[in-house]
Amino acid sequence: MQHYLIQLECSKCGETYPHAKPHNVCLSCGKPLFARYALEQLFDSWKPEHLLSRPPSLWRYKELLPVCDEEHIVSLGETMTPLIHAKSLGEHFGLSELWIKDESRLPSGSFKTRGLAMAVSKAKELGITKLAIPSAGNAATALSVYAACAGIQAYIFMPKDTPAFNIDTCRLAGANVTLIDGLISDAGKIVAERKADEGWFDVSTLKEPYRVEGKKTMGFELAEQLGWKLPDVIIYPTGGGTGIVGMWKGFSELEKIGWIGKKRPRFISVQADGCAPIVKAWEAGKSSAETWQNAHTIASGLRVPQAIADFLILDTIQKSNGTAVSVTDDAIRDSMQLLPTKEGILTCPEGAATVASLEQLLSDGTITSSDQVVLFNTGGYQS
Ligand SMILES: *Cc1c(COP(=O)(O)O)cnc(C)c1O
Repeated sequence: MQHYLIQLECSKCGETYPHAKPHNVCLSCGKPLFARYALEQLFDSWKPEHLLSRPPSLWRYKELLPVCDEEHIVSLGETMTPLIHAKSLGEHFGLSELWIKDESRLPSGSFKTRGLAMAVSKAKELGITKLAIPSAGNAATALSVYAACAGIQAYIFMPKDTPAFNIDTCRLAGANVTLIDGLISDAGKIVAERKADEGWFDVSTLKEPYRVEGKKTMGFELAEQLGWKLPDVIIYPTGGGTGIVGMWKGFSELEKIGWIGKKRPRFISVQADGCAPIVKAWEAGKSSAETWQNAHTIASGLRVPQAIADFLILDTIQKSNGTAVSVTDDAIRDSMQLLPTKEGILTCPEGAATVASLEQLLSDGTITSSDQVVLFNTGGYQS
């Protein structure tokens, strides 16, 4: 198979690394590495029409994905997720163009699947046999099922109060699960300390270059579903930030190959009141975020006190003319009821947080009734 991956490049200092070997972060500055592709070549040779005969899965965008040989793809059927016109919910809020990208349909029940399908496939291609992850929950479930499918060992570190669904599913899929007394950031420290001795490759959010490549396919699908036009606003529940950072990167690639124009959606990052480091940094006009103390929220995917990509998330919000807001757990609970009542879409607390943000965004004029707004329902309901 022909591939267009050229190299890895540091998102901060620009230092480059060959893609044929495993890399985590930039060795000079410790920041995330991005995959870079031969976009000029694709500009001439790859057109949206080429997609028409391909199956509806994220692998349809393989030219802009990092797996060099299709033989290494580890797949559980990563279906394109529907973009649903939420007419009743829109009417409730006075928005005629309210849409929901429903990521709950993916294998393992959340959008984390996109990133881990990519990271595990690439790990397989690179001959890696042991993967370790600190997780707030859904990433661990996604890694466990893809690692099982690939015949790779998964080592999971997550808070002991992670939702039972995540703990159970990791164990059911045969992963090595360690529950810790602390948060995802503490789990990350354990992985960092032990990985060299244990021979683990660390697939922490954005400390591994390929999960974000999977996440960017959310943006590709959205653009394709809207006829290669982007909406006015994307509202996204933000934890580690791969969703926002990935879509932003993906849109830039689509522009460079000539598939979309210059217009970008305003990115609105939603966090929970009990863990809102990005919102705090945004409101203070800072370009990086401080660690959030005593993080707590029912939205476990948003319980990320410190994100390595903080500067990239904040930069995306700023460049897109967006904003960051937080919502209470009570508002999240109310929205977990409102969304299914109005639209029949069952949701996780993180997805509900985007619905919960609408009232304040409309009342302060951040969004207006004529905007085309896309909410990301990042996962399904789990009891
Ligand atoms: C991890 C997670 C998030 C946060 O996503 P990022 O892209 O890491 O910011 C949101 N929703 C759910 C359901 C998650 O599992």
